[in-house]
Amino acid sequence: MEKVKTEVKLSLQLQAAINLLKSSSPSPRLDAELLLCHILSKSRSYLYAWPERVLTEGELGAYEECIDRRACGEPVAHFTGRREFWSLELEVSEDTLVPRPETELLVECALERIPAEASWKLADLGTGTGAVALAVAKERPACRVLATDISAEALVLAQHNARRLQIHNVDFIRANWLTGLPAASLDMVLSNPPYIADADPCLADGDLRFEPHGALASGPEGLDDLRRVIPEAFTVLRSGGWLLLEHGTSQGAAVWDLLGTHGYLELCTWRDLAGHERISGGRRG
Ligand code: GLN
Repeated sequence: MEKVKTEVKLSLQLQAAINLLKSSSPSPRLDAELLLCHILSKSRSYLYAWPERVLTEGELGAYEECIDRRACGEPVAHFTGRREFWSLELEVSEDTLVPRPETELLVECALERIPAEASWKLADLGTGTGAVALAVAKERPACRVLATDISAEALVLAQHNARRLQIHNVDFIRANWLTGLPAASLDMVLSNPPYIADADPCLADGDLRFEPHGALASGPEGLDDLRRVIPEAFTVLRSGGWLLLEHGTSQGAAVWDLLGTHGYLELCTWRDLAGHERISGGRRG
């Protein structure tokens, strides 16, 4: 008997994918749409303009495979190879953390402090894809940003992103936090370091399982790297320079303690859109 092929319309397949992702993803619709755009090489508006479009067998198979893998936690950005951050389309890879929307708050806090025409020298430590360094450099073209990472693969990716986005005021060096940087040379230090406790069960859950452990976890309390960056940054900041750090939602008090102990003044903390303490910082007197 001849096999009858059923035609699958884009809108129905999309809805099926959303339903499938509901229990595993915090953003099932967005994920399902981005993955379908990726398979079809089309924009999101195409999905709304052509809901009746019939998917080919090849498209359907590829889409189903993506959705199954996404349901098991693989980040959408690992399929698409892209992630938007501060309106910059960044290439991502499995070698770095996928930039998070909450990290845009670090960029906002930095920009609040850097005058529009300033020609400051800044550093972004543990730059990963280059997200923070590139966003700040783009918004403050007269500044010079030094982006560091311990991972050679991350630096290659970050440099590639800078070239693609034609952002020329960023330099890249491989460094273990601030080792080797000259004292009193920077006006601002920014970092989104690893800050999750080694035994935190979230590391075995969701997207985090597919991201580099070294970019996420930092000792028994998640504070090992913050404990190192805070005093090291004090040395490389000039008098009056700022340190701004992303941290875990329950680490605000610990980070304030560290900042105070190491001599920072004008301490501040900002909450993210979910109302959690997310960024803290202070100024070298
Ligand atoms: N904000 C990330 C998360 O909890 C962690 C990022 C980090 O460790 N710097 O998903």
